[in-house]
Amino acid sequence: MKKKIHDKTFVPFLGAADIQQAVSRMAAQINKDYQGKSPLCIAILNGSFMFAADLFKQLEIDASISFIKLASYKGMHSTGNVVTAIGLETTMSGRDIILIEDIVDTGKTLHAFLPQIMDHQPASLKICSLLHKKEATVYPIKIDYLGFEIPNLFVVGYGLDYDGLGRNLSQIMQLES
Ligand code: 5GP
Repeated sequence: MKKKIHDKTFVPFLGAADIQQAVSRMAAQINKDYQGKSPLCIAILNGSFMFAADLFKQLEIDASISFIKLASYKGMHSTGNVVTAIGLETTMSGRDIILIEDIVDTGKTLHAFLPQIMDHQPASLKICSLLHKKEATVYPIKIDYLGFEIPNLFVVGYGLDYDGLGRNLSQIMQLES
């Protein structure tokens, strides 16, 4: 069924059952890879909150979770975008970190943020993203746990919004073309 959000119409793209299946697959892989370890999951808000919650519930290892918000702004004297993390744990040193993202689009956000995590000298750092728009890549990011590779289209639902709305959908919908 179609859904109108603000001025735009969205059509079904990924169903709730398909999403849950992908989440279970990713959780199973993480459970396997981190056996005997206690990783720190860092979920990037707002978009990843639903995915992070569903994934985290299926982790059977001793895992912790923390949430951060990334604010990007243009430096007064710099041409590049700077990303500041709000709520970033300072105790990442020596920890196995799993970064949880909703979607990697151009890769710009993670490209700017990953060095900041590495500055804390974690024991390891892996990236877990529900969606990846490979065709939109500007900064290549190695995604260790991926739900779906998707075409370069605008999607909402399952945490992702269009101008503040649509996050509550349990499915993912795409902009009607
Ligand atoms: P990147 O820095 O990789 O270009 O973009 C990452 C961020 O852009 C995501 O975390 C997300 O907030 C936003 N984004 C990218 N593509 C989409 C999309 O199709 N729908 C929504 N709702 N947000 C997107």
